[in-house]
Amino acid sequence: MNTPTRKESSSRIPVVVLGATGSVGQRFVQLLDGHPWFEVVALTGSERTTGQTYAEACHWVVPVPMPAWAAGMPVLPSEPDSLSSGPAPRLAFSALPTQQARLIEPTFAQAGLAVCSNASAYRDEPDVPILLPEVNPDHTGIIATQRRQRGWAGCIVTNSNCTSTGLTVALKALQDAFGLRRLFVVSMQAVSGAGYPGVPSLDIIDNVIPYIGGEEVKVESEPRKMLGRFTGDALEDARFSISAHTNRVAVTDGHLVCASVELDHPVSVEEAAQALRAYAAPAVSRHLPSAPLPVIVVKDEPDRPQPRLDRQAGDGMATVVGRLRPDPLFHLKMVVLSHNTIRGAAGGSIYNAELLVETGYL
Ligand code: NAP
Repeated sequence: MNTPTRKESSSRIPVVVLGATGSVGQRFVQLLDGHPWFEVVALTGSERTTGQTYAEACHWVVPVPMPAWAAGMPVLPSEPDSLSSGPAPRLAFSALPTQQARLIEPTFAQAGLAVCSNASAYRDEPDVPILLPEVNPDHTGIIATQRRQRGWAGCIVTNSNCTSTGLTVALKALQDAFGLRRLFVVSMQAVSGAGYPGVPSLDIIDNVIPYIGGEEVKVESEPRKMLGRFTGDALEDARFSISAHTNRVAVTDGHLVCASVELDHPVSVEEAAQALRAYAAPAVSRHLPSAPLPVIVVKDEPDRPQPRLDRQAGDGMATVVGRLRPDPLFHLKMVVLSHNTIRGAAGGSIYNAELLVETGYL
């Protein structure tokens, strides 16, 4: 984690984690432990777990011990009114399932909280940004429109689908350097992407499942929104097109994407590698506590990236790209890896919240 630049630990912003007992919720608890800007003051769950302590409610699957401060906290209902007894949170990290997120997240925005969501419920809304701070921090500008149109003091911002995350970071470097026209992508996605307990072991061991409900549509649309333009009062999609195949594989964490990319003109592998290596986040997000440095790790070995060996690059926040080579149909082939429950979920949301602080929306 980088040095804090704006908030000192004595004035940390109180936050609530919605859906704290699930696989992404647990990552929030892990990553917010000792965060320099944010302090968790409440954890919520469903009717199944409310009233229990977090340690009782949670089947902890993160590979580090549960923080002691979290273990004894009560799991509260996922409603703004349930938070009235403690310090008032100003920020809600949401790890709710999509259907519940659709109903619950607006109640927190209405109550004046900034909601940083992992769910897909609001990603397609024209006044809700999908943020990757190292790619499109200017898209926070749409929050003013959202507040005006919806009449709430808070806001909802989302992070992207976990498969689109690393892919979009790598594409941003190529888009800036060479322009983008078309992409053909095939994902190999970890089982943790399906939440906990997720895919039954007897379905996934010794197997690949060539279907993840709703995923291909997201991978074909979300990068275009994130790599599009903020016009001052609207978000305009980028004009390239994507064809996606998405697959579930027997890996615990880390989504791999094999991509064939058509650029505006042919480039050499060396030029592409140089553009990816040199990519830096815009100044506003470059030094935030969760910012990965470098943004993109380029691997030269012929058999990398691999989920088990490379998913922790940049504490799980970096995008790892390898196997750069010419493509006989388009221009360039590459393999992209990012950690789905860190960079593609909780870590990404925390980075988004840091951006909201830095840009004055929080
Ligand atoms: P999960 O393991 O199934 O956890 C879901 C959480 O939501 C649990 O804390 C659960 O609480 C709570 N919940 C369920 N029903 C609820 C209700 N009716 N009211 C209030 N809380 C409720 O799911 P996950 O993998 O963490 O995913 C969470 C969200 O992040 C989803 O929208 C998912 O699409 C998105 N996401 C996941 C990943 C990933 O890699 N896993 C990546 C990016 C985005 P109880 O335990 O108390 O029932």
